[in-house]
Amino acid sequence: MKYKIVNINDLGDQSVLIIYTGGTFGMIQDASGALAPFNFGKVVDRVPELKQLGIKLTVISFPKPIDSSNVGIQDWKDMAYIIEENYSQYDAFVILHGTDTMAYSASMLSYMLDGLNKPVIFTGAQMPIGSIRSDARENLIAALEIASAHVEGIPIVSEVCVYFNYRLLRGCRSQKLRSSTFAAFESENYPVLAEAGIEIEFNYPALRPHNTESRLKVNNKIDADVTILKIFPGITEHIVKSVLGDDKMKGIVLETYGSGNTMKSDWFISCLQRAINDGKIILNVSQCIGGEVEQGRYETSKKLNDIGVLSGGDITTEAAVTKLMFLLGSEANYSKIKDKLTRSLVGEMDIE
Ligand code: ASP
Repeated sequence: MKYKIVNINDLGDQSVLIIYTGGTFGMIQDASGALAPFNFGKVVDRVPELKQLGIKLTVISFPKPIDSSNVGIQDWKDMAYIIEENYSQYDAFVILHGTDTMAYSASMLSYMLDGLNKPVIFTGAQMPIGSIRSDARENLIAALEIASAHVEGIPIVSEVCVYFNYRLLRGCRSQKLRSSTFAAFESENYPVLAEAGIEIEFNYPALRPHNTESRLKVNNKIDADVTILKIFPGITEHIVKSVLGDDKMKGIVLETYGSGNTMKSDWFISCLQRAINDGKIILNVSQCIGGEVEQGRYETSKKLNDIGVLSGGDITTEAAVTKLMFLLGSEANYSKIKDKLTRSLVGEMDIE
Protein backbone atom coordinates (compact mmCIF):
# COMPACT_ATOMS: atom_id res chain seq x y z
CA MET A 1 0.00 0.00 0.00
CA LYS A 2 1.31 3.50 -0.81
CA TYR A 3 0.98 5.83 2.14
CA LYS A 4 0.98 9.60 1.85
CA ILE A 5 3.46 11.26 4.18
CA VAL A 6 3.27 14.91 5.25
CA ASN A 7 5.80 16.62 7.52
CA ILE A 8 4.08 19.23 9.65
CA ASN A 9 6.75 20.36 12.07
CA ASP A 10 10.45 19.56 12.51
CA LEU A 11 11.06 21.26 15.84
CA GLY A 12 10.71 19.82 19.34
CA ASP A 13 12.27 17.10 21.46
CA GLN A 14 9.40 14.61 21.10
CA SER A 15 8.33 13.13 17.80
CA VAL A 16 4.82 11.90 17.09
CA LEU A 17 3.58 10.06 14.05
CA ILE A 18 -0.08 10.74 13.25
CA ILE A 19 -1.71 7.90 11.33
CA TYR A 20 -4.73 9.23 9.51
CA THR A 21 -7.21 6.49 8.66
CA GLY A 22 -10.31 8.66 8.06
CA GLY A 23 -13.50 9.13 10.09
CA THR A 24 -15.76 12.13 10.65
CA PHE A 25 -12.71 14.08 11.85
CA GLY A 26 -11.66 14.86 8.29
CA MET A 27 -14.94 14.53 6.43
CA ILE A 28 -16.68 17.00 4.18
CA GLN A 29 -20.08 16.81 2.56
CA ASP A 30 -20.09 15.22 -0.88
CA ALA A 31 -22.37 16.26 -3.76
CA SER A 32 -25.29 14.32 -2.25
CA GLY A 33 -24.85 16.00 1.13
CA ALA A 34 -23.48 12.84 2.83
CA LEU A 35 -20.27 13.02 4.88
CA ALA A 36 -17.23 11.35 3.25
CA PRO A 37 -13.53 11.42 4.25
CA PHE A 38 -11.06 13.79 2.56
CA ASN A 39 -7.27 14.00 2.48
CA PHE A 40 -5.22 14.98 5.49
CA GLY A 41 -3.39 17.82 3.71
CA LYS A 42 -6.58 19.85 4.07
CA VAL A 43 -6.90 18.91 7.73
CA VAL A 44 -3.52 20.47 8.55
CA ASP A 45 -4.66 23.78 7.09
CA ARG A 46 -7.60 23.73 9.49
CA VAL A 47 -5.44 23.25 12.61
CA PRO A 48 -2.63 25.80 12.34
CA GLU A 49 -1.88 25.18 16.06
CA LEU A 50 -0.20 21.92 15.04
CA LYS A 51 2.84 23.91 13.97
CA GLN A 52 3.08 25.63 17.36
CA LEU A 53 2.95 22.59 19.64
CA GLY A 54 6.70 22.12 19.93
CA ILE A 55 6.36 18.49 18.82
CA LYS A 56 7.97 17.03 15.71
CA LEU A 57 4.95 15.92 13.73
CA THR A 58 4.60 13.73 10.70
CA VAL A 59 1.39 12.39 9.20
CA ILE A 60 1.02 9.11 7.34
CA SER A 61 -2.31 8.88 5.66
CA PHE A 62 -4.18 5.83 4.39
CA PRO A 63 -4.20 6.28 0.59
CA LYS A 64 -7.98 6.18 0.72
CA PRO A 65 -9.20 7.40 4.11
CA ILE A 66 -12.19 5.36 5.29
CA ASP A 67 -15.35 5.75 7.26
CA SER A 68 -14.52 3.45 10.16
CA SER A 69 -17.72 1.48 9.57
CA ASN A 70 -15.70 -0.02 6.71
CA VAL A 71 -12.72 -0.99 8.86
CA GLY A 72 -11.59 -4.58 8.44
CA ILE A 73 -8.78 -6.94 9.26
CA GLN A 74 -6.45 -5.58 6.58
CA ASP A 75 -6.84 -2.07 8.04
CA TRP A 76 -5.80 -3.34 11.49
CA LYS A 77 -2.79 -5.01 9.90
CA ASP A 78 -1.95 -1.79 8.06
CA MET A 79 -2.12 0.27 11.27
CA ALA A 80 0.09 -2.24 13.10
CA TYR A 81 2.51 -2.36 10.16
CA ILE A 82 2.88 1.44 10.06
CA ILE A 83 3.64 1.46 13.79
CA GLU A 84 6.14 -1.40 13.47
CA GLU A 85 7.94 0.19 10.52
CA ASN A 86 8.22 3.55 12.28
CA TYR A 87 8.58 2.38 15.86
CA SER A 88 12.21 3.29 16.40
CA GLN A 89 11.88 6.69 14.74
CA TYR A 90 9.01 8.13 16.79
CA ASP A 91 8.30 8.56 20.48
CA ALA A 92 4.56 8.14 20.11
CA PHE A 93 1.70 7.44 17.72
CA VAL A 94 -1.71 9.07 17.35
CA ILE A 95 -4.26 7.27 15.19
CA LEU A 96 -7.03 9.40 13.74
CA HIS A 97 -9.94 7.03 13.33
CA GLY A 98 -13.72 7.16 12.98
CA THR A 99 -15.60 6.80 16.23
CA ASP A 100 -17.97 4.02 15.12
CA THR A 101 -15.44 1.21 15.39
CA MET A 102 -12.65 2.93 17.32
CA ALA A 103 -13.17 0.70 20.38
CA TYR A 104 -12.79 -2.43 18.21
CA SER A 105 -9.62 -1.13 16.53
CA ALA A 106 -8.12 0.04 19.82
CA SER A 107 -8.83 -3.38 21.35
CA MET A 108 -7.37 -5.27 18.40
CA LEU A 109 -4.24 -3.11 18.27
CA SER A 110 -3.76 -3.66 22.04
CA TYR A 111 -3.48 -7.39 21.35
CA MET A 112 -1.43 -7.10 18.15
CA LEU A 113 1.23 -4.73 19.51
CA ASP A 114 2.96 -7.12 21.89
CA GLY A 115 5.70 -5.54 24.01
CA LEU A 116 4.50 -1.99 23.25
CA ASN A 117 6.22 0.58 25.46
CA LYS A 118 5.23 3.79 23.69
CA PRO A 119 1.87 5.59 23.55
CA VAL A 120 -0.58 4.68 20.79
CA ILE A 121 -3.54 7.04 21.15
CA PHE A 122 -6.68 6.72 19.07
CA THR A 123 -8.78 9.81 18.64
CA GLY A 124 -11.39 11.22 16.28
CA ALA A 125 -14.34 13.56 16.35
CA GLN A 126 -18.11 13.68 16.39
CA MET A 127 -18.14 16.73 14.07
CA PRO A 128 -15.84 17.34 11.09
CA ILE A 129 -12.88 19.65 11.60
CA GLY A 130 -14.45 22.13 9.18
CA SER A 131 -17.50 22.68 11.39
CA ILE A 132 -17.32 25.70 13.67
CA ARG A 133 -18.28 23.77 16.83
CA SER A 134 -16.19 20.72 15.97
CA ASP A 135 -14.58 18.68 18.74
CA ALA A 136 -11.83 17.58 16.32
CA ARG A 137 -9.27 20.28 17.15
CA GLU A 138 -9.39 19.76 20.92
CA ASN A 139 -9.30 15.99 20.62
CA LEU A 140 -6.28 16.01 18.32
CA ILE A 141 -4.28 18.60 20.21
CA ALA A 142 -4.85 17.00 23.62
CA ALA A 143 -4.12 13.52 22.21
CA LEU A 144 -0.80 14.87 20.88
CA GLU A 145 0.03 16.48 24.23
CA ILE A 146 -0.70 13.23 26.06
CA ALA A 147 1.23 11.18 23.50
CA SER A 148 4.29 13.37 23.93
CA ALA A 149 4.09 13.61 27.75
CA HIS A 150 7.18 12.09 29.35
CA VAL A 151 9.26 12.18 32.50
CA GLU A 152 13.03 11.89 32.16
CA GLY A 153 12.70 10.47 28.67
CA ILE A 154 10.15 7.81 29.71
CA PRO A 155 6.66 8.17 28.22
CA ILE A 156 3.89 8.55 30.80
CA VAL A 157 1.59 6.38 28.68
CA SER A 158 2.88 3.06 27.31
CA GLU A 159 -0.29 1.46 26.02
CA VAL A 160 -3.06 1.71 23.43
CA CYS A 161 -5.65 4.31 24.51
CA VAL A 162 -8.64 6.22 23.27
CA TYR A 163 -8.66 9.98 23.90
CA PHE A 164 -12.03 11.65 23.55
CA ASN A 165 -13.83 14.62 25.05
CA TYR A 166 -11.22 15.52 27.69
CA ARG A 167 -10.62 11.94 28.84
CA LEU A 168 -8.03 9.27 28.17
CA LEU A 169 -9.37 5.71 28.36
CA ARG A 170 -7.68 2.35 28.11
CA GLY A 171 -8.31 1.31 24.49
CA CYS A 172 -9.40 -2.26 25.22
CA ARG A 173 -11.83 -1.01 27.91
CA SER A 174 -13.46 1.71 25.84
CA GLN A 175 -16.89 1.61 24.20
CA LYS A 176 -18.74 4.07 22.01
CA LEU A 177 -21.96 4.61 23.93
CA ARG A 178 -23.33 7.83 22.45
CA SER A 179 -23.70 8.92 18.86
CA SER A 180 -24.86 12.49 19.23
CA THR A 181 -23.01 14.04 22.14
CA PHE A 182 -19.32 14.85 22.35
CA ALA A 183 -19.01 12.45 25.31
CA ALA A 184 -19.14 9.46 22.98
CA PHE A 185 -16.89 7.03 24.86
CA GLU A 186 -16.91 5.39 28.27
CA SER A 187 -14.81 2.84 30.08
CA GLU A 188 -17.29 1.65 32.64
CA ASN A 189 -15.21 -1.13 34.14
CA TYR A 190 -11.84 0.60 34.32
CA PRO A 191 -10.84 4.02 35.65
CA VAL A 192 -10.17 6.98 33.37
CA LEU A 193 -6.40 7.17 32.67
CA ALA A 194 -6.19 10.95 32.38
CA GLU A 195 -8.40 14.03 32.38
CA ALA A 196 -7.58 17.09 30.33
CA GLY A 197 -8.53 20.24 32.21
CA ILE A 198 -6.30 23.26 32.62
CA GLU A 199 -3.60 20.64 33.26
CA ILE A 200 -3.58 17.07 32.04
CA GLU A 201 -4.08 15.02 35.21
CA PHE A 202 -2.79 11.48 34.83
CA ASN A 203 -4.20 8.68 36.97
CA TYR A 204 -0.79 7.06 37.50
CA PRO A 205 -1.90 3.93 39.41
CA ALA A 206 -4.28 3.02 36.57
CA LEU A 207 -1.73 3.38 33.76
CA ARG A 208 0.11 0.32 32.53
CA PRO A 209 3.64 0.46 33.98
CA HIS A 210 6.38 1.29 31.48
CA ASN A 211 8.83 -1.49 30.69
CA THR A 212 12.05 -0.14 29.19
CA GLU A 213 13.24 -3.66 28.34
CA SER A 214 10.24 -4.75 26.28
CA ARG A 215 10.55 -4.95 22.52
CA LEU A 216 7.68 -4.49 20.08
CA LYS A 217 6.60 -7.64 18.30
CA VAL A 218 3.63 -7.27 16.01
CA ASN A 219 1.43 -10.31 15.85
CA ASN A 220 -0.83 -9.90 12.86
CA LYS A 221 -2.42 -13.32 12.55
CA ILE A 222 -6.17 -12.88 12.88
CA ASP A 223 -8.94 -15.40 12.33
CA ALA A 224 -12.26 -13.73 11.60
CA ASP A 225 -14.43 -16.88 11.78
CA VAL A 226 -16.22 -15.68 14.89
CA THR A 227 -19.59 -14.23 15.69
CA ILE A 228 -21.57 -12.39 18.36
CA LEU A 229 -24.88 -13.81 19.50
CA LYS A 230 -26.96 -11.43 21.59
CA ILE A 231 -29.78 -13.21 23.36
CA PHE A 232 -33.18 -11.65 23.88
CA PRO A 233 -36.51 -12.86 25.24
CA GLY A 234 -38.24 -14.91 22.56
CA ILE A 235 -35.14 -15.86 20.56
CA THR A 236 -36.01 -18.98 18.59
CA GLU A 237 -34.37 -22.37 18.39
CA HIS A 238 -33.92 -22.33 14.62
CA ILE A 239 -32.13 -18.97 14.70
CA VAL A 240 -29.79 -20.08 17.50
CA LYS A 241 -29.18 -23.38 15.69
CA SER A 242 -28.36 -21.69 12.41
CA VAL A 243 -25.90 -19.28 14.04
CA LEU A 244 -24.17 -21.86 16.22
CA GLY A 245 -24.30 -24.56 13.55
CA ASP A 246 -22.20 -22.73 10.95
CA ASP A 247 -19.40 -25.13 9.97
CA LYS A 248 -16.67 -22.53 9.58
CA MET A 249 -17.41 -20.58 12.73
CA LYS A 250 -14.91 -21.25 15.52
CA GLY A 251 -15.78 -18.83 18.29
CA ILE A 252 -18.88 -17.12 19.67
CA VAL A 253 -19.21 -14.16 21.97
CA LEU A 254 -22.50 -14.87 23.74
CA GLU A 255 -24.04 -11.63 24.99
CA THR A 256 -26.14 -12.55 27.98
CA TYR A 257 -28.23 -10.70 30.55
CA GLY A 258 -26.92 -9.09 33.73
CA SER A 259 -24.23 -11.11 35.43
CA GLY A 260 -24.14 -13.72 32.66
CA ASN A 261 -27.64 -15.18 32.73
CA THR A 262 -29.50 -16.90 29.90
CA MET A 263 -32.73 -18.85 29.57
CA LYS A 264 -32.23 -22.37 30.84
CA SER A 265 -34.45 -24.08 28.23
CA ASP A 266 -33.21 -27.54 27.26
CA TRP A 267 -33.08 -26.69 23.54
CA PHE A 268 -30.88 -23.67 24.18
CA ILE A 269 -28.45 -25.46 26.46
CA SER A 270 -28.24 -28.39 23.98
CA CYS A 271 -27.45 -25.98 21.10
CA LEU A 272 -24.58 -24.52 23.13
CA GLN A 273 -23.44 -27.97 24.21
CA ARG A 274 -23.43 -29.24 20.61
CA ALA A 275 -21.37 -26.24 19.45
CA ILE A 276 -18.84 -26.84 22.24
CA ASN A 277 -18.67 -30.56 21.42
CA ASP A 278 -17.97 -29.54 17.80
CA GLY A 279 -14.90 -27.64 19.02
CA LYS A 280 -16.39 -24.13 19.06
CA ILE A 281 -15.44 -21.76 21.82
CA ILE A 282 -18.21 -19.83 23.58
CA LEU A 283 -17.31 -16.75 25.62
CA ASN A 284 -19.98 -15.29 27.88
CA VAL A 285 -20.08 -11.48 28.12
CA SER A 286 -22.74 -9.28 29.65
CA GLN A 287 -25.11 -7.03 27.72
CA CYS A 288 -24.75 -4.57 30.60
CA ILE A 289 -22.21 -1.79 30.17
CA GLY A 290 -20.87 -2.12 33.71
CA GLY A 291 -20.35 -5.09 35.99
CA GLU A 292 -19.25 -8.59 35.17
CA VAL A 293 -20.26 -12.12 34.29
CA GLU A 294 -20.38 -14.40 37.31
CA GLN A 295 -21.37 -17.80 35.98
CA GLY A 296 -23.06 -19.87 38.65
CA ARG A 297 -24.35 -16.95 40.69
CA TYR A 298 -27.86 -17.66 39.43
CA GLU A 299 -29.42 -20.96 38.45
CA THR A 300 -29.79 -19.43 34.96
CA SER A 301 -26.04 -19.28 34.45
CA LYS A 302 -24.94 -22.37 36.39
CA LYS A 303 -25.60 -24.68 33.44
CA LEU A 304 -23.25 -22.61 31.31
CA ASN A 305 -20.44 -23.48 33.70
CA ASP A 306 -21.36 -27.15 33.57
CA ILE A 307 -21.20 -27.38 29.76
CA GLY A 308 -17.94 -25.43 29.36
CA VAL A 309 -19.04 -21.93 28.35
CA LEU A 310 -16.17 -19.60 29.31
CA SER A 311 -16.76 -16.55 31.47
CA GLY A 312 -15.60 -13.27 29.97
CA GLY A 313 -15.67 -11.53 33.38
CA ASP A 314 -15.91 -7.76 32.91
CA ILE A 315 -14.62 -7.63 29.32
CA THR A 316 -16.46 -5.49 26.74
CA THR A 317 -17.99 -7.09 23.65
CA GLU A 318 -15.54 -5.10 21.50
CA ALA A 319 -12.53 -6.41 23.41
CA ALA A 320 -14.02 -9.93 23.52
CA VAL A 321 -14.70 -10.38 19.82
CA THR A 322 -11.29 -8.99 18.82
CA LYS A 323 -9.59 -11.16 21.46
CA LEU A 324 -11.28 -14.24 20.00
CA MET A 325 -10.16 -13.29 16.47
CA PHE A 326 -6.66 -12.59 17.70
CA LEU A 327 -6.25 -15.79 19.74
CA LEU A 328 -7.80 -18.03 17.08
CA GLY A 329 -5.34 -16.54 14.58
CA SER A 330 -2.22 -16.51 16.69
CA GLU A 331 -2.56 -19.60 18.87
CA ALA A 332 -2.96 -23.13 17.51
CA ASN A 333 -3.63 -24.93 20.78
CA TYR A 334 -7.30 -24.80 21.80
CA SER A 335 -6.74 -25.27 25.50
CA LYS A 336 -4.24 -22.39 25.46
CA ILE A 337 -6.79 -20.22 23.65
CA LYS A 338 -9.40 -21.05 26.27
CA ASP A 339 -6.98 -20.36 29.07
CA LYS A 340 -5.99 -16.98 27.62
CA LEU A 341 -9.64 -16.03 27.09
CA THR A 342 -10.26 -16.19 30.81
CA ARG A 343 -7.13 -14.21 31.72
CA SER A 344 -6.11 -10.64 31.09
CA LEU A 345 -3.61 -10.26 28.25
CA VAL A 346 -3.33 -6.47 28.08
CA GLY A 347 -5.60 -5.20 30.85
CA GLU A 348 -8.84 -5.91 28.98
CA MET A 349 -10.40 -7.68 31.97
CA ASP A 350 -9.93 -7.77 35.70
CA ILE A 351 -9.19 -11.47 36.09
CA GLU A 352 -5.41 -12.05 36.03
N1 ASP B 1 -19.05 6.99 10.61
C1 ASP B 1 -17.95 7.73 11.18
C2 ASP B 1 -16.78 6.79 11.32
O1 ASP B 1 -16.77 6.00 12.21
C3 ASP B 1 -18.34 8.29 12.50
C4 ASP B 1 -17.26 9.07 13.19
O2 ASP B 1 -16.12 9.14 12.82
O3 ASP B 1 -17.59 9.69 14.22
O4 ASP B 1 -15.87 6.84 10.52
